Amino acid sequence: MSPVDIVDDMREVGTAVLETLATHIESVRTGSGDVVSAADIEWVSKRLELRRWVEEGGMTLPELLSFVTTYSDLSASHHHPGYMAHQIAPSDTPGVVADLLQAVTNNIPLVYELAPAAAAVDRAVCRWMLDHLGWAETGTGAMTNGGSLGNLTALLAARSHADATAWRDGNPGDLVVLAPATSHYSVRKAAAVMGLGERGVHPLPTDELGRIDPAGLAPALAAVRAQGRRPIAVVANGCATGTGLYDPVAEVAEFCERNDLWFHLDGAHGAAALISPRLRGRLAGIERADSTVWDGHKMLRTSALCTGVLFREKRYLDTLFKQDASYLYRPESEDVDPGQFTFETSKAPLGLKILLTLAYRGQASLRSYVERQYDLATHLWTLIQDRPDFTAPYRPQSNILCFRYEPWGDRQLELRSRLIQDGRFYLSSFQLAGTPYLRASLMSPTTDHRTLTDLLEAIVEVAAE
Ligand SMILES: *Cc1c(COP(=O)(O)O)cnc(C)c1O
Repeated sequence: MSPVDIVDDMREVGTAVLETLATHIESVRTGSGDVVSAADIEWVSKRLELRRWVEEGGMTLPELLSFVTTYSDLSASHHHPGYMAHQIAPSDTPGVVADLLQAVTNNIPLVYELAPAAAAVDRAVCRWMLDHLGWAETGTGAMTNGGSLGNLTALLAARSHADATAWRDGNPGDLVVLAPATSHYSVRKAAAVMGLGERGVHPLPTDELGRIDPAGLAPALAAVRAQGRRPIAVVANGCATGTGLYDPVAEVAEFCERNDLWFHLDGAHGAAALISPRLRGRLAGIERADSTVWDGHKMLRTSALCTGVLFREKRYLDTLFKQDASYLYRPESEDVDPGQFTFETSKAPLGLKILLTLAYRGQASLRSYVERQYDLATHLWTLIQDRPDFTAPYRPQSNILCFRYEPWGDRQLELRSRLIQDGRFYLSSFQLAGTPYLRASLMSPTTDHRTLTDLLEAIVEVAAE
């Protein structure tokens, strides 16, 4: 294909595809259609004619547009008012433009020289995050592909901090991470990847809602030390994925300072509260943590993936990822070559999605979104207080709430499947201390008070069928 073809093609295809996608969002926003398809993979593959496209190619523009529509229809609709399942951002124009810009420029900010604009944007977005953390003066960070990789990166830095020989010589074998059972499973995955094994995560005592019990910290530390193990980090949730509850950040910070322990705060979902003066108190003490992760693709309206992994002290990275790649990195350029601090080699300039969101929508708009969604969960909790047939074990601290339809006892998962089949609502589920719950994660800007009233009615209806 000649360059001229690309230019003409892009104009024609780009305009038509964006128009088709906008029309799709316009329709799902009103609540029409199923939130997510309950069809099986063979049916979906047929509907999309995947074999034909793989084997024959030859797709025309009308067929492309029809594919885009079918693909969208067979995808979970995060703009649908009934979407309440996982913490995935409903797309917004600035993030879409950022993805397009990346698709076209395909610059990779591994080193500054390769992608000057992208590297500058990633650095500016990390600085914006560091500013909210109170780490602007001393700290540093990098954009990475997701909170899971961010947690691994932070724990690798913590390990290097605890034992500088580990990177070169391998895992010494006596290292342990302290984390509550409610921590995200990527923390256990990271421990396993680092060679600590899943058993290298020692569970911290929690209250009945899975929040770290500050009184249990000292005994837990004493217990691992008595086993001759060295703690490399304490991990706390801000907030926990399952319940949306925040661990007592200030108390954990205090304990870590007193015992000279690395404090990693997993803010993948909940760090967004930092941009709201009304909500940021939930993270009071976060400035005393050593590292955190913050996902843009959860509460900052960006597409996946877009995560900041952030450190309070620049010096923490002196021993992280000590790679010998003289063909890439120059020692004097640490501040502008962020690729030195992430596991990935090539990766997209993820910060662009947040930068354009801040630029085009404004931070105030993001703040309103976060506050609105957090308030919606409180509203759902209030509705539940007035009903004898529903219970919720806590007042929510974020946009996530676990609850039960009591007449169905421990059959909440079955109820959830029926609700998905019904098509109007899409919830997730969570086991809290062995008890199954329905779980609402209120991400869609089109979900309102009315939707939540309808949700409870729909549950009663599908239960009665
Ligand atoms: C979502 C989440 C993660 C994982 O982040 P990904 O971006 O999905 O890899 C980690 N921790 C918490 C608390 C989360 O909510």
